[in-house]
Amino acid sequence: APLIEIKDLHASVDGKEIIKGLSLTINAGEVHALMGPNGAGKSTLSAVVAGREGYEVTGGQVLLNGKDIADMEADERAVAGIFLAFQYPVEIPGVGTTTFLKAAINARRRARGEGEIEPMEFLKLLRAKQKELDIPDEMIKRPVNMGYSGGEKKRAETLQMSMLEPAFCILDETDSGLDIDALKVVSDGVNAMRSPDRGFLVITHYQRLLNYIVPDYVHVFAGGRIVKSGGKELALELEEKGYAEFTEQAA
Ligand code: ADP
Ligand code: MG
Ligand code: MG
Repeated sequence: APLIEIKDLHASVDGKEIIKGLSLTINAGEVHALMGPNGAGKSTLSAVVAGREGYEVTGGQVLLNGKDIADMEADERAVAGIFLAFQYPVEIPGVGTTTFLKAAINARRRARGEGEIEPMEFLKLLRAKQKELDIPDEMIKRPVNMGYSGGEKKRAETLQMSMLEPAFCILDETDSGLDIDALKVVSDGVNAMRSPDRGFLVITHYQRLLNYIVPDYVHVFAGGRIVKSGGKELALELEEKGYAEFTEQAA
């Protein structure tokens, strides 16, 4: 069954229509890449799906496991399993990373009618993920994302994502600002999360990331909608030819 279905979605920012009839279905177990020129509206799409404020949905639907999420706030969508990572990870002053992670995990467990996570179980999980993602204790002790470098923020967000075990992960330009080593760490973290009951939407401007997180499908986003879909080879074609053909078509 489809995990996420976006049906003829229209959305505006400041009264300007950015998403113009976008449709996309992602099944559990699949990784879809969304590629497109800067300013096309890729981040707008991720914000709309995650339920961030300041975006107006003017038409269409987004279904999570067959259920329309239009009336759900961003935090409810997060609890339901939608995770939006990257591009500009937020700093949360005064909230320790450990406290933040535990609260987020417990919010999800409560929503599923489960009890809070045992402190020892939490620590064991945290240690394992820290090791996987090369995150020192010193980083964990700081407030969420405070004073992190770009690469540290992305590693920290990958940690959040892998501890929260979301059903649907949106990665918005994970690769921007990452050197090759950090890109490998983050990609390995994402790849370790790939599973038959989880779906991913990987948004990127460049093909490079898709050498590390190899998608099942690639979509070209231009003019507010998906104008072409294919397999991973489409990303290579785009790298070679650029987006001009599609932006002209869309205009
Ligand atoms: P992309 O992620 O593909 O580079 P964005 O979604 O960031 O594109 O932007 C799409 C368009 O929407 C751009 O024209 C941008 O200026 C506009 N836009 C995005 N977010 C906002 C906002 N919060 N306020 C005003 N305009 C915005
Ligand atoms: Mg942008
Ligand atoms: Mg963007």
